[in-house]
Amino acid sequence: MTEVRVRFPPSPTGYLHIGGARTAIYNWLFAKQHNGKLILRIEDTDAERSTQESIQGILDGLEWLGVTWDEGPYFQSEFANDHVATAKKLLDSGHAYKCFCTKEELDAKREAAAAAKGDYRYDKTCRGLSAEEAAEKEKQGLPYVVRFKAPEGDGAVGFDDKVYGRVERSYDDIEDFVIVRSNGKPLYLLCNVVDDIRDRITHIIRGQDGLVNTPRQILIYEALGVTAPVFAHMPLTLDLKKAKISKRSHGEIVAVQFYRQHGFLPWALCNFLVLLGWSTTDDQEIFSREEMINAFSLERINRANSIFNYRKGDPKFFTDPKAINMNAHYLRTMPVEELAPLVKEEFVADGIWDAAYDNDKKEWFLKTLDLIRDRFHTLKDFAQAGRAYFADDYEFQPKTVKKNILKHPDLKEWLPQLAERFEEISDFTKEEVERVTREFATALDIKPGIPINGIRASVTGQLAGPGLFDVVLAIGKERVIERMKKVAQLY
Ligand code: GLU
Repeated sequence: MTEVRVRFPPSPTGYLHIGGARTAIYNWLFAKQHNGKLILRIEDTDAERSTQESIQGILDGLEWLGVTWDEGPYFQSEFANDHVATAKKLLDSGHAYKCFCTKEELDAKREAAAAAKGDYRYDKTCRGLSAEEAAEKEKQGLPYVVRFKAPEGDGAVGFDDKVYGRVERSYDDIEDFVIVRSNGKPLYLLCNVVDDIRDRITHIIRGQDGLVNTPRQILIYEALGVTAPVFAHMPLTLDLKKAKISKRSHGEIVAVQFYRQHGFLPWALCNFLVLLGWSTTDDQEIFSREEMINAFSLERINRANSIFNYRKGDPKFFTDPKAINMNAHYLRTMPVEELAPLVKEEFVADGIWDAAYDNDKKEWFLKTLDLIRDRFHTLKDFAQAGRAYFADDYEFQPKTVKKNILKHPDLKEWLPQLAERFEEISDFTKEEVERVTREFATALDIKPGIPINGIRASVTGQLAGPGLFDVVLAIGKERVIERMKKVAQLY
């Protein structure tokens, strides 16, 4: 059997978009499943729009996602000779011809067609030129483009798309399209085929926007006597208003980079993106890498466009809630030893990393991460909502201070008094701290919730979190006492 060879060929004109990332992941899964190869090709023929920064961003993004490639990156621009040579081959074999029609002539014909409310198609004026006539025009220095000779008569070019099924385009619909510009540069449509042939691509898995090119590309394969690869076009990703998601209308949330900056775990994002347009028969949503590699199939890519559920400006969710929940799931269930280095990265960047977390305090560090992660959604939460466990410059949520501190003016005295009781506890266990706290409340004839919520607010700044006595133990006797004694500062 021939080796499966797929490719991801981004045009480096911007950052890695989540739609592009999904294409890359699908190709990667397919390659892995078939023990095949994924080829990375940077389609940089548009020299004006391609940038080094974009290339780097794409490479970094793929690496972060864990999408590994087996060959490349190849650069399309380095194969310009190949593209030119193929165009010449098509000319020589009579599958293409030189067209000397001027822009003015073509514009006039296009306008006339529009005025008659008809469809414009190039009228093949130059298709009938003899070799001598064409040579003569060339000798006169007239500029020309190279056009592909589309088939004539009844009939259609078709292919079996793995997602959309049979796709056909009638010959009537296909004009003699340009494959080389008047400046001698081959068009993208041709370069893409030439590169796929050279890279021995067996399956082309790409976005639905590529579908408009496919029939013409198949004609090129046929003219070159090469069997076309298998095609699978993926549905688009739309927003709730059914508009294509784009940077212009949705901002940074369409960039892979955004998720990295917002504390996403790479595999959580991959898992979410794969489900945007693909599903299993049994609605399983959480997959390990290996499970996903085994379960993935082109046939189960949805034909319907997928919906990216994001409401711009929604204060509750900074991106599709499903993506956030997926991330939270992984964050809360992954082995804490694997989580630790990711949190370390955040802490180092934030300046709250303590080298002891790798040594003497390692056990405490892991235990604390495990304790607090239950309510967290992203890696950012550890240095933000979870900051009080690791640093003294934590923030006090204003609504928490209002509700659990300011509402009870007596806490200003009560918390420091209770802190003194804590000082006296020699065996500082959860049970002892709880007993002392409850006794304190009983003696004052107040609800235990008042000091309990007050302690939480003063020592963590947060309204909610793990069980209070676990929190007290995790933060530690000394720091808890110190923070409770400073409660007056909050008034
Ligand atoms: N460079 C094209 C793009 O970024 C790739 C199209 C294809 O996969 O053939 O859209």
